[in-house]
Amino acid sequence: MNINREQIANENRNLDFDLFDTLACFRCKGELTRVLEETKEYLVCPKCPDKYSIKDGVPIFKNVDLPPEYSDEFESVSSQVKKKYGNKFYRKLFSLYRHPLKISAEGKKITQAYLPDILSQKAKILNLGSGEFAKANLTLFKKFERRIVNFDIDYFENVHVVGDGHELPFKDDLFDLVYLSCVLEHVRDASAVVKECHRVLKHDGLIFSTTPFVSRHHSDSDYRRWTLMGLDFLFRNFDRVESGIYCGPASAVALSLREFFSAFFNNRFLHFSVKFVTSLCLIPLSYLDLFLNRRKTSYKLAQSYYWLGKKCVPQESQSDKMKFDNEDK
Ligand SMILES: [Zn+2]
Repeated sequence: MNINREQIANENRNLDFDLFDTLACFRCKGELTRVLEETKEYLVCPKCPDKYSIKDGVPIFKNVDLPPEYSDEFESVSSQVKKKYGNKFYRKLFSLYRHPLKISAEGKKITQAYLPDILSQKAKILNLGSGEFAKANLTLFKKFERRIVNFDIDYFENVHVVGDGHELPFKDDLFDLVYLSCVLEHVRDASAVVKECHRVLKHDGLIFSTTPFVSRHHSDSDYRRWTLMGLDFLFRNFDRVESGIYCGPASAVALSLREFFSAFFNNRFLHFSVKFVTSLCLIPLSYLDLFLNRRKTSYKLAQSYYWLGKKCVPQESQSDKMKFDNEDK
């Protein structure tokens, strides 16, 4: 075995720390060993049976059976466009087609001002479920570009580690921030994922999540929605710093109308043409959120919420606390 660690670290897609120092076996959370077999490199856990490959510096911890991707014929159009025209074109088209109807206000202040302000320059950030648009999502973290580990179940262009959020392949008490941008509605067991986030966060580490509320079914793995109360319960092992509307009711209505009008057309071309045209027509409506997001009852019909919290106590003692709280009632 002869591995040039420095060379591999450089391959870690521009992170300024050694990604491999952060990794652990996702089953037993123990140390992993790197082995070289012929020309291929693997990660091996001394206690567990599996070995994991490394593809162009990206460790692949994928050994779960997942539902097939894009079985929805309308969803599959986006992956076809991407294959045909490449990522850059797809990104432009996607942003033109999808984002004008989502107007975020208060929640964005947190990601663009609050978080970059309070995180130290040396903070380690886990972008869990980073998806294809990791960099676009995180322009807010330009300052931390080389400190963000993009993690996803799929091998996308910007991903550093491929794996399953239910069993994170990272050491305990490691990250300063776990960032979940519209991720938790797509996982089978959100509580298990949140528990793992808690484990990999340092004491005082932050969790920031956005989740849809009044929002269309999207992607093949779309399991659920939460109210603000539901989010408080989901993140009960954290201390809430702030939560509220991410995208407001006007965005919800605009997106619903777009879905409503396009639902009349089964023909793919017509379906997407109607979506595109209604998107453009509804942009002015969605901008009402700049006003509505500050109204008292807007949370009742918000398109999405954000939730920011802090890890203050270990998971175990917190669950004891929950027990006592319940006994008090
Ligand atoms: Zn193991």
